[in-house]
Amino acid sequence: MNTTISKAYGTESVEADLKQLNINRRSVTTKDIEIDILFCGVCHSDLHFARNDWGMTQYPVVPGHEIVGKVRHIGSGVTKYKTGDLVAVGCMVDSCKTCNNCKDDLEQYCPEWVGTYGGYDKHLDTTTHGGYSESIVVDEDFVLRVPENLDLAGLAPVLCAGITTWSPLKHWKVGKDSKVAVVGLGGLGHMAIKLAHALGAEVTLFSRSPDKMQDGLDLGADQVIISSDEAQMASVTNRFDIIIDTVPYAHDLNPYIGTLATNGTLVIVGYLGPLDPMLVTVPMIMGRKTVAGSLIGGIAETQELLDFCGKHNITSDVEVINIQDINTAYERMLKSDVHYRFVIDMASLKE
Ligand code: NAP
Ligand code: ZN
Repeated sequence: MNTTISKAYGTESVEADLKQLNINRRSVTTKDIEIDILFCGVCHSDLHFARNDWGMTQYPVVPGHEIVGKVRHIGSGVTKYKTGDLVAVGCMVDSCKTCNNCKDDLEQYCPEWVGTYGGYDKHLDTTTHGGYSESIVVDEDFVLRVPENLDLAGLAPVLCAGITTWSPLKHWKVGKDSKVAVVGLGGLGHMAIKLAHALGAEVTLFSRSPDKMQDGLDLGADQVIISSDEAQMASVTNRFDIIIDTVPYAHDLNPYIGTLATNGTLVIVGYLGPLDPMLVTVPMIMGRKTVAGSLIGGIAETQELLDFCGKHNITSDVEVINIQDINTAYERMLKSDVHYRFVIDMASLKE
């Protein structure tokens, strides 16, 4: 298959900083769209992957799955988009399209789903490379329409931080009578607050960081609870219908279980791995409480969210950076010093 070279940023080993690399992009097949990338958000998953936190990274890695760009070229059979359209790509670029999950618009749970980076690229028999690059080639079924009224940099994080929190809010039927809590004020957490607030829910933020309290309120939380303060934690015992936990590292879930109402659910979206400390089951049994997990969202659901954001004028609060600043951005992300998503202006890659 013919390929073209695309400039990108990535890393070739676990200990190396990200630097400029050249990668191959396939020439468009019948159903493909070639996209010039304008902006790409920086997700904590990018950092986990670059540093092999999940033990599955194959190098070189080019991260990035919050992509907004413009259609450069379309394959002969593409029907949904034309050259010049503004489009977006999130965390997936392919799936089997035939299994029950795919038929139910849950492509993210397809056993053969292909991640935007670190997935298996069947066309080139290699690893997929993400959005820290000039361009990407994607099957039109995994390309999304962008609302025309929104700032493009602010829109990029909707493609992962947004959909990852929206999907559980919708699945657990959050609406105006719901009491929602969000753990951790970072990229996912700030989108969870905005989206739950827009759905009419009462929203509480749990944070370790007292200096983020005013920001939490400004983003739409009704109250902020500092998770290390036992009296504040006790004030919300048995309160929440759903808690979205975005914390990226192992942490104690037990204090949060006590804040769930009867039949409430704590949805883990942040941390992948064994719980430490373990869960104490008594408070779960005494209140029919659930601990669940959730992965991004399907393509139709992501389009629904983009349209919702367009209608309600919702974007992410972003700090736009040049690609050359990506290693500093990762260090700041590790210190929870993100307000509240870094987004790379991909024009900087041309410098
Ligand atoms: P982020 O911007 O770095 O935010 C994480 C927030 O969690 C921090 O701002 C901090 O908030 C809190 N936190 C960080 N370290 C902590 C610790 N050791 N203990 C307690 N709280 C801590 O990260 P993100 O981009 O939102 O991503 C969050 C996680 O979700 C990552 O692990 C990412 O890989 C994962 N993720 C999952 C999915 C999915 O589909 N399930 C999709 C995307 C991302 P405070 O300062 O307020 O405490
Ligand atoms: Zn992500």
